[in-house]
Amino acid sequence: MTDFRTTVGNVELVSLTDGQGADPPTGVFPESSEDVWRTEYPELLDAEGMIHPRYGCLAVRSGGKLIIVDTGMQAPDGALLDDMQAKGVDRDEVNLVVTTHLHPDHVGWNLTGGQPTFPNARYLVPQSDWDYWTQPSVVENSPHIQNQALPLEKLNVLDLMGDDYRITDELTTIATPGHTPGHISIVVASAGHRGFILGDVAHSPAQAHYTDWNPGFDLDGPTARQTRHTIIDRLESDGSVVATGHFPDPGFGKFVRGESGRRVWQVL
Ligand SMILES: [Zn+2]
Repeated sequence: MTDFRTTVGNVELVSLTDGQGADPPTGVFPESSEDVWRTEYPELLDAEGMIHPRYGCLAVRSGGKLIIVDTGMQAPDGALLDDMQAKGVDRDEVNLVVTTHLHPDHVGWNLTGGQPTFPNARYLVPQSDWDYWTQPSVVENSPHIQNQALPLEKLNVLDLMGDDYRITDELTTIATPGHTPGHISIVVASAGHRGFILGDVAHSPAQAHYTDWNPGFDLDGPTARQTRHTIIDRLESDGSVVATGHFPDPGFGKFVRGESGRRVWQVL
């Protein structure tokens, strides 16, 4: 088990987890085959052949600020707040909550009982994802937007991020559309070191090699696939430390070329 904490230059990243799902891999990735999962990725399968996408979040310390990236699912057994406490992250000290995209497993703990879970934080949401999810026809069918996103505006804790938004001097957003229209990732650059907070550009280590595989819930599959190729190629060539949301705990690693010439996810 690798450490839940890592650094990129002067930036500290703490992996947090709100629980995990249990899904048949070919259900998540309709273009994959059971055979490939069984023979090439047995370590990702449980005894029943299921994969367990983690509901991952991050605490980031940068430029004197404490930042939470994504807030999990808040399922009945959601463990984010306990996990934060166990790892020494005090929710009262959080300055910013950054949302990579407005899916239910990324905004779950924005509010608790109708009040901000992080009482001293501003909540940052990508403008273009906000514009998509707050269309009346979309809101109507999205209880998580009604419950965990729209109230942020009324409570006056919401700030919308334009493109290439500078969160701190060391953290800048980058548009990575496809999974959702306004999906963002975060580039970490500090003291000559490079890191990358991936969001849902990829959901499984298997996509290091099978980069074409789209999860069924990408809203725009062709764009998501193109984004995934562009970003993972870039991360492989620049050697960034990558923080993932849905890869197995704690989700830190690098995309590297293995001896066979096959690209793999190398856990830190
Ligand atoms: Zn997700």
